[in-house]
Amino acid sequence: MSLNENKKKLLRNIPKIDKIVLNLKNNYNTKDIPETLMTQASREITEKIRKKITSDSYKHQPPDLKEITNQVFSLIKIKNRPNFKKVINATGVIVHTNLGRSLLAKEAADFVYERATGFSNLELDLATGKRGLRYSLVENLICEISGCESAMAVNNNAAAVLLCLDTFAKGKEVIVSRGELVEIGGSFRIPEVMEKSGALLKEVGTTNRTHLKDYEKACNDEKTAVLMKVHTSNFNITGFTASVSLDELHKLSRKKGVILMEDLGSGTFTDLSLFGLPKEPTVQESVKAGADIVTFSGDKLLGGPQAGIIAGKKELIEKIRQNPLTRALRIDKMTLAALEMTLRLYREPEKAVKKIPTLRMLSASPNELQQQADILKNIILESKFEKLNVSVIKNSSRAGGGSLPETEIPTFCVGVKIENISSIQIEKFMRKNSPPVMGRIENNIFVLDPRTIQEDEYEIIGKAFKNLKEKLG
Ligand SMILES: *Cc1c(COP(=O)(O)O)cnc(C)c1O
Repeated sequence: MSLNENKKKLLRNIPKIDKIVLNLKNNYNTKDIPETLMTQASREITEKIRKKITSDSYKHQPPDLKEITNQVFSLIKIKNRPNFKKVINATGVIVHTNLGRSLLAKEAADFVYERATGFSNLELDLATGKRGLRYSLVENLICEISGCESAMAVNNNAAAVLLCLDTFAKGKEVIVSRGELVEIGGSFRIPEVMEKSGALLKEVGTTNRTHLKDYEKACNDEKTAVLMKVHTSNFNITGFTASVSLDELHKLSRKKGVILMEDLGSGTFTDLSLFGLPKEPTVQESVKAGADIVTFSGDKLLGGPQAGIIAGKKELIEKIRQNPLTRALRIDKMTLAALEMTLRLYREPEKAVKKIPTLRMLSASPNELQQQADILKNIILESKFEKLNVSVIKNSSRAGGGSLPETEIPTFCVGVKIENISSIQIEKFMRKNSPPVMGRIENNIFVLDPRTIQEDEYEIIGKAFKNLKEKLG
């Protein structure tokens, strides 16, 4: 038989899809597996075999029906798991954008479930029976906590900034310090958002120093609509620097009759210096200093859902609500539920720190973390893997989410070394675990920070190391 004929024969011998599916049903528990998934997985496996035969990649015989069915079943198991997976964050980065930013408080998550699975007064004014505003569900709480006159929430802070500029500065000038033209991770650049809104950016000062007189000179009675301050959350300029305070900008904005807007980025209601962290400007302080509009994220230091909150003067918020773009950036009902419940927790600051996971992780003390690290160390040692070298090390966590960029928050971590297995291999194994355990590599040691590990995750990490011993030991 010629080579080509042999190939043709092998190709002909690949079982038909129907036959594989039937074999699956006869030999595996397929009760809960959708028919389409069985067909799809069978197709993928046979297609791979076809390619391998065509390219002569088989050293021996291609797999038989039994082996093919087995491969299909394994593929189905993988495909049947959600794409959106649980991940254990052992990186010590609290607001980790790649890992979903803030965790919701249980109260907020339960409330999302309730409002998502039942009808609600989302846009119904129960007092009049007429159409209501979804924004009214969180407005009173934002006003109460921050001291602003009026408020609303949209999809995220990027949307909030875009919407405000589109409403107040289309075709007009917005004055911003050169030192504040920041790029936030994930390609959000203040100058580009401004351009999209149709506002004309007028940069003043230099990268390291901007003075009040720079703003003053740039103010043009006809053209200037907004003085904007941006919190440069994700980097620090140090050395010979100067910037203009919100108080001073407030005075200037009154003199010139323009709107004073502040993008706080990761807004917070909590004075972080209470936890021994550097002070971040709070929303309350911005409102008090006279900002007409303040925008900030819901899921950074605030510890709520993804949202952009706009707090400000009543007549300005009213104008924003009438902007047709508001409809396109509308906040979803599940987000509103999470936001309302998170805000309610802020009414009692001590409760907020205990119940809002982002604040709880930020405020955890080194003492507490050392104990947790000891617990984690012992759980990992339960794998009885002789090649394992586990130690508790003094280290530092990060706030993340572009907040407190230079701040090393003292913590205690567990460092893992394994004889003949590199830290890169450990990292890869842990990342491919189910659920994935994300740590970091430092000086060739795989490091796990208890600050961001949740209570019920310690045992899962222990099991991951048992798996590692079985597979790589
Ligand atoms: C993070 C951030 C944004 C974007 O906020 P999102 O909620 O991620 O859209 C905008 N401005 C500043 C200063 C930020 O730090």
